[in-house]
Amino acid sequence: MTNKVAALVDRDPLRESGEHLGRQLHAYAPPPRIDLAKAAEGVATLLEGLGVDATAEGLVETPQRVARAYAEMITPEPFEVTTFPNEEAYDELVVARSIPFSSLCEHHLLPFSGMAHVGYLPAERLIGLSKLARVVDHFSRGLQVQERLTAQVADWLSTELEPKGVGVVLEADHSCMSLRGPRARCARTVTSALTGFVRDDQRTRAEFLALADAKA
Ligand code: ZN
Repeated sequence: MTNKVAALVDRDPLRESGEHLGRQLHAYAPPPRIDLAKAAEGVATLLEGLGVDATAEGLVETPQRVARAYAEMITPEPFEVTTFPNEEAYDELVVARSIPFSSLCEHHLLPFSGMAHVGYLPAERLIGLSKLARVVDHFSRGLQVQERLTAQVADWLSTELEPKGVGVVLEADHSCMSLRGPRARCARTVTSALTGFVRDDQRTRAEFLALADAKA
């Protein structure tokens, strides 16, 4: 596994590119409008509804703490990503594998977390490998479903980078599955979004999926 990743990093074509030709990209998910006092009131009501004595010593500040924690978890980090011209006409897959992420499931407000594998087949522009992680982090800050998060990362890269193809695979454990309901502790949900050559060209598709397989 490590060999393959090392090989990919060594081949990061961005190292060869001139910074002066960089172009800035911006994330476009707007930050949510947050009313912390109202959110804390809601948490207090939730505790009351659950029959919890919210006046107990350890719980006095809990509504405010929970409100702040959720506010942080649903606020995307603003980020700027620089792209570079593909001067060497690099035309192999660029893959960042095992990017850790966590998000909140919009059905239960419980976290789901796991690994993202993100790749693209360059056309005119390149983006740094580490920046792929920023894109995943950006879209995972919010109330999400895993399928939409996967598609948003792929769409953003397709639109902003205009590569020949994009591949995104997310594998995650959902605490709404492991902590409640069926308590399926080992269940891991895998979603993917493939576009362009990564979807349609057999060889590229197989190569991406092999590289994206965290167990390979
Ligand atoms: Zn859920």
